[in-house]
Amino acid sequence: LVEVRGVHKSYGTLEVLAGIDLVVRPGEVTVILGPSGSGKSTLLRVINHLEKVDRGFVAVDGDLIGYSRWGDTLRELKEKDILVQRTRIGFVFQGFNLFPHLTALENVVEAPVSAQGRPRAEVEAEARELLARVGLADKVDARPRQLSGGQQQRVAIARALATRPRVLLFDEPTSALDPELVGEVLDVIKDLAHGGTTMLVVTHEIGFAREVADTVVFMDAGRVVEQGPPTQVLDAPRHDRTKAFLDKVL
Ligand code: ATP
Ligand code: MG
Repeated sequence: LVEVRGVHKSYGTLEVLAGIDLVVRPGEVTVILGPSGSGKSTLLRVINHLEKVDRGFVAVDGDLIGYSRWGDTLRELKEKDILVQRTRIGFVFQGFNLFPHLTALENVVEAPVSAQGRPRAEVEAEARELLARVGLADKVDARPRQLSGGQQQRVAIARALATRPRVLLFDEPTSALDPELVGEVLDVIKDLAHGGTTMLVVTHEIGFAREVADTVVFMDAGRVVEQGPPTQVLDAPRHDRTKAFLDKVL
């Protein structure tokens, strides 16, 4: 269960998140839509404590993210503990962000071994299974530059899964891809969704949202303008801003 409660975040005088409340239940897929600059990436980064909240909190399965509670006060966790927390929250970026000097397999193996301290042999066996699951059984020894964008993004998804996260966050996972490679990445994400992975996906792929989202959230100017099942938000939006946005992307 991912809980975002009353989250505010400003950069200087710019309020980027103006009080966000959001819950993602286990096994559910939430798709976040919204215009550029509405705060979608910042929201995902706050969930992973890559950005600190100014107010409010994020909790995953009851664990406060980035902080521990001491009576009435919150203390930020040590960097080491934050890194461990992040391994339980998989993050897939627009730009793949693989280690260029490591093979696909080594990219997937890295975090479970170094951040979670799991035995390499066990992790490697699991990494091969994960790479097979994303259709890359024959690419385990390839380095990122030898892979297409779609293949690199599938390695990034396998890597995000390797730490056995409780939730996966995707920030526009297909928007850096050539159009003909978008489908193969969306198919992997759809398989995960149907397999019960809890996820939050920022994307402009409305067809994907319609097919796999349990909840669609429309954000504008740091606020959740409306949220609900795809049939409601996409087909019968209640707010003018949602309508205007959908008119543009559809
Ligand atoms: P896009 O669809 O273009 O990715 P977004 O909805 O993901 O947009 P964010 O990246 O969350 O939007 O940014 C929201 C606002 O916060 C923008 O106005 C952006 O310029 C600003 N912003 C984001 N990160 C920072 C930062 N580190 N310092 C200052 N301003 C920032
Ligand atoms: Mg963004």
